[in-house]
Amino acid sequence: MNKKIKKLLIANRGEVAFSIIKTAQSMGMKTVAVYEMPDSEANYIRLAGTAVMIGDGPVKDYLDIDKIIWAAHKTGADAIHPGYGFLAECADFAAACEKNGLIFIGPSVQVMRRLGDKAATKTIMKKAEIATVPGTGILSSGEDGVREILAFAEKVGYPILLKAVDGGGGIGIREVEGADSARTQLNHARHEVLFAFNHDGIYAEKFIAAPRHIEIQILADSYGKVVHLGSRDCSIQRRHQKLLEVAPASSIPVDIMSAMCRTAIKAARQVGYVNAGTVEFLYDLKTKEFWFMELNKRLQVEHSVTEMVVGVDIIKKQIEIAEGNHLDLQQEDVVMKGCAIHVRINAEDPLNHFWPDGGRTVEIYRPPAGPGIRLDGTIKAGYAIPTVYDSLLVNMTVWGTCWDEAVANLKRALGDFVIVGPKTTIPFYLAICDEPDFKRGIFDTSYLDDHDCLFDAVGKVEKADRNQPSAGKDTVKVSSLRRIL
Ligand code: ADP
Ligand code: ADP
Ligand code: MG
Repeated sequence: MNKKIKKLLIANRGEVAFSIIKTAQSMGMKTVAVYEMPDSEANYIRLAGTAVMIGDGPVKDYLDIDKIIWAAHKTGADAIHPGYGFLAECADFAAACEKNGLIFIGPSVQVMRRLGDKAATKTIMKKAEIATVPGTGILSSGEDGVREILAFAEKVGYPILLKAVDGGGGIGIREVEGADSARTQLNHARHEVLFAFNHDGIYAEKFIAAPRHIEIQILADSYGKVVHLGSRDCSIQRRHQKLLEVAPASSIPVDIMSAMCRTAIKAARQVGYVNAGTVEFLYDLKTKEFWFMELNKRLQVEHSVTEMVVGVDIIKKQIEIAEGNHLDLQQEDVVMKGCAIHVRINAEDPLNHFWPDGGRTVEIYRPPAGPGIRLDGTIKAGYAIPTVYDSLLVNMTVWGTCWDEAVANLKRALGDFVIVGPKTTIPFYLAICDEPDFKRGIFDTSYLDDHDCLFDAVGKVEKADRNQPSAGKDTVKVSSLRRIL
């Protein structure tokens, strides 16, 4: 099969719709955006050639397979990119696209079904002799589930983690510290994932203390060629969800890094993977062991950090692979140049457990510019942030020739970024830029828990900000510019 895509529908919203529309336009394609009513003022809609309103939402219409297929037919689209989240990892959606003669930009239906859930994927990898984090299969319902947790803990010891088999974004991850809390934590986890994924499958894993989260980006075509695009370090997280990501991952011995890349390719081959995917590992700094954690069968939020160091447009490769082209990339041509850092500019309050701060209107929006800065997503002054979706506003990625330069560029870009209205994660990242361990490139998944100083620093920035009227932020910048001139 080799079919040139002429019109691409993006079954997603916000900053990922923005990135896909931009790449598709560069490839000469027409684009179709879909939106629910709460998104009717969003900028991504205006960037696409056509926009189709699919319902009042919230969220349910972005998850409605029939409506998305209807929108594709109505607009004459011949392919669908699902982005990340929503229907991206839904095998039924990929099957519906296939049935309706639409190209799905992602893995085949068979691969998606084979990968099934996270516990099933780990079983496949274990059979292929890939080290996986010790864990259980899906826990039984009711009291049997509690008994299975206790039996597992007998073997591996406490604490253990409960995780959702349909996971993503850290949702449903709960720590069980001892036998006493097993039942409560299992109930909490079930409740959380049922709400998020409409499925309450939970499994348990041995808790690895303060590991690093290292992942390998892979690309695979339909002819058996698999290459990797190197590593990312996504250890800086809140509530098990990534906040800041770095490429490449640093301070990992070369032989271990190449073993991880080889393992990622092996994992992809094991399931006949096609398209872009990410193999996530936990890495123990002390023992230098690494374990397979999951294979994300989609684009990642942080894909731009890899793009900046390898110079490959991953979305473009996804589209070319889905069109049936051979992957025109040799492993030896993949060279990671310099260092990149990706931050999620979220409408969240870092001082209130990163609680979403949606519902507010952006009064001033002034993004940074200059060498080594990339922004994915666009908002504008006057934009009322919907409360019903993810809190991510814009993805920012910065590049430098080395770590120190990347951190300096990040600090400069964040300092120039003006968003007045909602609370954002910007002050938090600014605090990180000045934190000594981060500056030395030393961090693991317990980084936030171990660095209360970051929150003190954010508090100071916010206090200084509060002493200025919101419009004053703008005035200060203009007047300092005049002084320089
Ligand atoms: P991970 O890739 O490890 O699951 P991410 O934070 O990158 O962690 O993504 C978390 C989940 O939420 C994924 O399922 C992703 O597809 C989805 N997601 C994250 N951010 C958004 C967003 N802004 N819009 C839609 N889906 C999102
Ligand atoms: P999701 O599907 O939500 O992305 P993951 O399985 O990728 O879930 O885990 C998300 C994060 O939770 C990891 O990056 C890591 O910080 C933490 N985590 C997951 N499993 C373990 C574990 N077994 N031990 C310690 N931390 C873990
Ligand atoms: Mg993950």
